[in-house]
Amino acid sequence: MQTWTTAAYLIAALLFVVSLAGLSKHETSRAGVGFGIAGMTIALLATVATALGTAPVWGVVLLLVALLVGALIGLWRARVVEMTGMPELIALMHSFVGLAAVLVGWNGFLEVEAGHIELAGAMAGVHHAEVAIGVFIGAVTFTGSVVAYLKLSARIASAPLQLPGKNLLNLGALAAFTVLTVVFVSSPGMWILAVLTALALLQGLHLVASIGGGDMPVVVSMLNSYSGWAAAAAGFLLANDLLIITGALVGSSGAYLSYVMCKAMNRSFVSVIAGGFGASTASSSGPGVSGEHREIDAQGVADLLSAARSVVIAPGYGMAVAQAQAPVADLSRRLRDQGVAVRFGVHPVAGRLPGHMNVLLAEAQVPYDIVLEMDEINDDLADTDIVLVIGANDTVNPAAAEDPASPIAGMPVLRVWEAGNVIVFKRSMATGYAGVQNPLFFRDNSHMLFGDAAERVQDILTAFRSSTPAR
Ligand code: NDP
Repeated sequence: MQTWTTAAYLIAALLFVVSLAGLSKHETSRAGVGFGIAGMTIALLATVATALGTAPVWGVVLLLVALLVGALIGLWRARVVEMTGMPELIALMHSFVGLAAVLVGWNGFLEVEAGHIELAGAMAGVHHAEVAIGVFIGAVTFTGSVVAYLKLSARIASAPLQLPGKNLLNLGALAAFTVLTVVFVSSPGMWILAVLTALALLQGLHLVASIGGGDMPVVVSMLNSYSGWAAAAAGFLLANDLLIITGALVGSSGAYLSYVMCKAMNRSFVSVIAGGFGASTASSSGPGVSGEHREIDAQGVADLLSAARSVVIAPGYGMAVAQAQAPVADLSRRLRDQGVAVRFGVHPVAGRLPGHMNVLLAEAQVPYDIVLEMDEINDDLADTDIVLVIGANDTVNPAAAEDPASPIAGMPVLRVWEAGNVIVFKRSMATGYAGVQNPLFFRDNSHMLFGDAAERVQDILTAFRSSTPAR
């Protein structure tokens, strides 16, 4: 049985690797998800089969009940969750992995205490070190993810918590963890583990609370990485190879994604993983962020578009809220039919999770070859007649490039203001996720088209139909 289980786990691990590779490209991402599902199915079946051969009946019943309840909750959440609610759902799931690692760690300790596991000499030391490290990573992941969930779902303010001496607090907590681990390994005791757990819970809370709204995408990906390491630590304690491999895959790919996102947002990786260590505390909305904005109506936009040769569409979170991707895709097809060169410019953190806009545009059947990354399109914007900013705000904010005092200073943005005309689709003059006002709205070449993005795009299509019939 053991050999079969190991073989099944190995196949599942390979499928996870193939799945990750598939997920790295639009064209292969569906197949990637399929490989992931196949890997997880094999892993679950192998686990149940192993339990049938080794665990007592009540253990198998508990396992099956847990599987059923988990599968039902998973199915329900997957069916009802909105795309805009995915980041908080992911954060919540990371918190479960963290909590599971804490429970596995405590169980590993209590099993030894109760004499169910006999360990001697160096093995006991290794085991207790695994317990301490697993509990620590798990607890940091648990509370960090809960705070991320609360921030992303706007249940608490997204502004960074600025405790005095916060960097010293973080470093102090790390030093205290090291000392506690050494003490715990040399003379294991429940109280030491309890203090270590409480310290890690507070550390996770403080780390994520210290990070501002604009950096939340990196935090979600960083917590993804932490949850992977927490699972790997649990895998060591349970001597489960699959958990170790899967945890390491999630941990390293999450860390790499965080690094790539930090580069895209010009943030220091070390600063973000250390809870905003050394980050600027600037909170200005920038000088000159006021003035007169100009409004335009749907007919006015249709007239401008009729005279345009090149159009770039910059989608953002508001397009997802309005579910405007289908009308936006219709508008792009209509313009292309009229001979206008239409392309989409996607910022790496537009929306509320990496790839959010790409998924919506693919769903609306926008061809991949006209969807460009920010770096691919930025230099062309100065030669573009019109940019349609559909519910994007922070990702097109010139303050990031021009105002060193802005909280989003240094974050690369789509330089839409360089185009001939910019039409901003939004419902009000409100700020975006980072809470920073946007000087773009007051530029001479900007026009605000207020209202729900889906309705306004429909209005433009209607205006087109009533004036210039499609060729
Ligand atoms: P923003 O959050 O900056 O702006 C979205 C804009 O959409 C708002 O200004 C809002 O204005 C408008 N809007 C909302 N609903 C509608 C609607 N129905 N119709 C028209 N407009 C609407 O979005 P961006 O995509 O530009 O930037 C993403 C932000 O989210 C960044 O700060 C990023 O760091 C952060 N983030 C990104 C994550 C990621 O991984 N991508 C994860 C977590 C956060 P109004 O209310 O006036 O309509």
